[in-house]
Amino acid sequence: MMSSIPFLRPSLPVVDEYVNLLRSIDETHLYSNYGPLCSQFESQVLASFFQNQGGFCTVTNATIGLMLAVRLAKRKGRYAIMPSFTFAATPLAAQWAGLEPWFVDVDPHTWCMDLNSLTQAISELGDEVAVVIPYATFGTGMALEPYAALQARGIPVVIDAAASFGTKVLEDSAQGHFGLGFPGYIVFSFHATKAFGIGEGGGVYSGDAEAVARLKRAGNFGFASDRASCEQGLNSKISEYAAALALATWQIYPEKIRKRQAIHKAYLDGLECSGLGGKGWQPQRTRGDVAFQFMPILCPPGQNRDQVVARMAELSIECRTYFSPACHQQHQFAACPHDGLVVTERLSRCILSLPLWEDMPESTVSRVIEGLTG
Ligand SMILES: *Cc1c(COP(=O)(O)O)cnc(C)c1O
Repeated sequence: MMSSIPFLRPSLPVVDEYVNLLRSIDETHLYSNYGPLCSQFESQVLASFFQNQGGFCTVTNATIGLMLAVRLAKRKGRYAIMPSFTFAATPLAAQWAGLEPWFVDVDPHTWCMDLNSLTQAISELGDEVAVVIPYATFGTGMALEPYAALQARGIPVVIDAAASFGTKVLEDSAQGHFGLGFPGYIVFSFHATKAFGIGEGGGVYSGDAEAVARLKRAGNFGFASDRASCEQGLNSKISEYAAALALATWQIYPEKIRKRQAIHKAYLDGLECSGLGGKGWQPQRTRGDVAFQFMPILCPPGQNRDQVVARMAELSIECRTYFSPACHQQHQFAACPHDGLVVTERLSRCILSLPLWEDMPESTVSRVIEGLTG
């Protein structure tokens, strides 16, 4: 009997690695409200990933981060334009901010929002566009110049970069972490299933430090300096215990990313050597040095994806099918307007996510590739 291969096996730092940070909480008696550990984590991220340009703050999770960002960024208007090929949290955040999602198609190679479809939707909807919410699909970087240009035209952009924390982009003029210097909000998730997993958590960056200060205030009940609420805020703060885990994860994150990239490369090599690439199995065209979350791939059009998943399950290999159904195919969003979504519907029929976790041996990657060949 072959051992089973889980889809993900998150491994967070063990307590021994950050027991000193936990002890420091016992001593400071500071448990939340941007305490010393939280502040240390935020300034390390801003300095190291974002060259101290703009602002970065923690949030309880990316969904709350998106809700706050969309609410603060949106202009007058009815619609939030976004891809349908994303996680439900993206359109849910728009709905919480009082907007109606308007779904557009994605690019067949990058699986990110298609810029032509976006341009068409914007010219169709005009002033009714309140915000644009692209998704950096599965942790990839994206060219942000077109979105910075939208912001400059007065159309706010919030980027769902839930899986892109740690992704470095070298192609852009602003080399460094994905999003560096971007004038709108960029939202990251620290959920256990993401590469920088701490259980629950998230972060929001913007090249505009003032925008992050506003979001932080909204996430602290909208309190002005006199602790009197002056807007419809909420509570998005993380505890010092979560911050301790974030600091411990930060220490080992370069190594975690390196391991994930090595496994991703083993998959790409395996696809090539096994001839699957030539048979129409198609990985995502990514941009930058990605902190991979898992290994998404498209089945060839002639294959029945669900049969592949079932066959893999028989081999004790656990696969997933993010994002199938796509958002517009889900009950909560079925009434939302959208354009043709031809590519999105093909992706949601063919998408398959293969196991990827940090201590996965290369022999396990080979077993997965063999399973696909079978
Ligand atoms: C994981 C994810 C989220 C939600 O993140 P949480 O931190 O779990 O709230 C939002 N959008 C996308 C695209 C995601 O993958």
